[in-house]
Amino acid sequence: MNVPTFQDGVASGFIAVTNPFDGAEIGKIADIPPESAQMLIQAARDGARVCRNLSRYERARILENCASLVDRDKEAFAALIVSEAGKTLRQAQKEVLRCVNTLKLSADEARRNGGEVVPFDAYAGSEKRQGWFSREPLGVIVAITPSNDPLNLVAHKLGPAIAGGNSVVLKPSELAPLSAIRLADYLVAAGLPPNIVVVANGGAALGEALVSARDVRMVSFTGGFVTGEKIARAAGLKKLAMDLGGNAPVIVMSDCDLEDAVECCVSGAYWAAGQNCIGTQRILIHSDIYERFKGRFVALTQSLKVGDPALPDTDIGPMITAQAAKQTARVVNDAIRLGAKLLSGNILDGAVYAPTVLEDVDFGCDLWRQEVFGPVVVLQRIESLDEALALANTPEYSLHSGIFTADLEVALKAADALEAGGVMINDSSDYRFDAMPFGGFKYGSLGREGVRFAYEEMTQPKVVCIRRAIEKRPEAQ
Ligand code: NAD
Repeated sequence: MNVPTFQDGVASGFIAVTNPFDGAEIGKIADIPPESAQMLIQAARDGARVCRNLSRYERARILENCASLVDRDKEAFAALIVSEAGKTLRQAQKEVLRCVNTLKLSADEARRNGGEVVPFDAYAGSEKRQGWFSREPLGVIVAITPSNDPLNLVAHKLGPAIAGGNSVVLKPSELAPLSAIRLADYLVAAGLPPNIVVVANGGAALGEALVSARDVRMVSFTGGFVTGEKIARAAGLKKLAMDLGGNAPVIVMSDCDLEDAVECCVSGAYWAAGQNCIGTQRILIHSDIYERFKGRFVALTQSLKVGDPALPDTDIGPMITAQAAKQTARVVNDAIRLGAKLLSGNILDGAVYAPTVLEDVDFGCDLWRQEVFGPVVVLQRIESLDEALALANTPEYSLHSGIFTADLEVALKAADALEAGGVMINDSSDYRFDAMPFGGFKYGSLGREGVRFAYEEMTQPKVVCIRRAIEKRPEAQ
């Protein structure tokens, strides 16, 4: 069975994909209606039977071939990310190299992570038993991805799923689906049999029909909280992985390297125009260095070049839509109405929103408590580490955090106390390595990504236990 497209009448129409910077149409995708969800899942069920029977060597070879093909065409992939997601060229190039790495790590997992011997004889009563557990595929996985990393976040779902012998119905963001579609094509070119990856192009209604289907064994979702809650309600009894948003705090103590801290925090706050789940949103700065940090942070922010992401010297491109930029301005203006002081930015031009710095933000407002997911950062004066830790932990969810200090004891105390899935020491919150466990703490976080960890979520252990007739091994000769 072939993947349905709007050309063969399965889709009701199409969705135009536009460049967020200039609004130019750069492609069209099928708009598959929810009524076709079952057909897509049936195709993926066929694919799941094929994938589970591929040897680990074959799965690894396909993933490695695909990594080589993406690497060969890295400039074309980067250009596509720039035009559909508005990332700058430098950011897009980095994303493509990370995707190559994610695919290679997935191949390693297929080769390496096949199961373990179970030491049954370690406990009384099981001396006659011998055996192992293997890592078996789950079957059909529905993967739903967001617009901000349109290639590498897709690789983080497809790579581990294929390594584990599953099939995937992939619903990429309808705002930036083209890199995902191209990656699926490249996997086929690398030798992946049909229907192991089924691309489901469409919007929220299609996504909801897919996640609620009974034949789906797992939903792996990356996106916002509101969508995550809807998916959790619709999915029913099946495994869920939820990679949701953040509102990252970074603590800056007075003994740090100030210049380095400013540079790292500027990069961490504005990477991908702030549309970054681990982007730095709140910087908690010791009062001894607050004014100096603020002066340099604002000056560096104002030196950034904002505009066309395709130009090599642009630092900050557009947000994904003009509506997203407007929503960011609304959250900032609400904070200003509640007393926040604007230090820079808050200028809206279509989808481009100038990098924005505020101080004296009310702790009750959305800008402090919720994820802003735009190029906005809050500076907050603190008098002690304890005060910083308490403020850092106020939001009900969290992903990453950071601390700048020269004092190891202070760094380790922060690492213990920060309620986050990752604590970056002498770095902003915006660091991720594709092999490390990645995910959130507190509300909404379910499971971990990072290739090994996603692979383990996407497989299930099967125990094989042999009852032997003898209790003791023969005497050594
Ligand atoms: P979003 O939640 O609006 O959309 C994500 C995906 O969900 C899209 O493919 C969309 O079509 C689909 N969708 C929307 N409604 C649905 C429904 N009812 N049922 C099923 N699918 C539905 O998110 P976005 O704006 O594309 O991305 C931004 C969010 O993603 C931010 O909150 C960001 O922090 C988060 N994010 C998290 C990570 C992570 O790894 N933790 C990484 C990147 C982005």
